[in-house]
Amino acid sequence: MRGMTRREREITDREAILGILDRSKVVHIGLTDGDEPYVVPMNYGYTMDEDGTLKLYLHGATQGRKLDMMRKNPKVFLEMECDLQPFAGDVACRYGLAYQSLMGRGLAVILEEPQEKMDALSILMKTQTGGDFTFNERLVKVVSVIRIDVLEYTAKGRAVPERASAE
Ligand SMILES: Cc1cc2nc3c(=O)[nH]c(=O)nc-3n(C[C@H](O)[C@H](O)[C@H](O)COP(=O)(O)OP(=O)(O)OC[C@H]3O[C@@H](n4cnc5c(N)ncnc54)[C@H](O)[C@@H]3O)c2cc1C
Repeated sequence: MRGMTRREREITDREAILGILDRSKVVHIGLTDGDEPYVVPMNYGYTMDEDGTLKLYLHGATQGRKLDMMRKNPKVFLEMECDLQPFAGDVACRYGLAYQSLMGRGLAVILEEPQEKMDALSILMKTQTGGDFTFNERLVKVVSVIRIDVLEYTAKGRAVPERASAE
């Protein structure tokens, strides 16, 4: 993936990246259909292996625009952010917003196997609520479950500058 312009804001620490994945709760998934871009916000669950391999899990209705697009072109781009904190400055251009964010590219896989769907929904609920939930085959039949194999990702953070006042 292309390097970051503001390198000093890049986050590479594993624990910090896990924090972004835990706190963001909503991912914006970018899709393309021919030359037409489409972005859809969704809740997600995630797993990250020791080596940093990242997978996201999404769920939703069994039909709709995003599913049609993913079937045609499984390439996705994703973005999530958390810890938004506006800050004030002495002049307009010193106002800003502190944040932490993660972006990446990946491939969407629409899951078919019931056990894989049940496991994915448990992961999603864990990320969203911190709780442990189980699902049965009847429940997973009526929803679509998507795994995003994240091929590359970067994380970035902007802190409140020392001289600024948080709003
Ligand atoms: C914070 C947040 C979290 C969400 N979490 C989930 C989730 O976990 N799972 C899930 O399935 N959905 C979630 N949604 C809803 C999601 O954004 C989509 O509306 C939904 O998934 C249907 O997508 P689709 O492409 O199948 O829509 P379709 O209904 O097929 O889209 C048709 C058209 O409807 C309009 N549209 C669709 N979605 C939206 C929207 N969100 N806002 C405005 N216009 C829209 C667009 O113009 C789109 O072209 C969430 C929405 C928000 C804001």
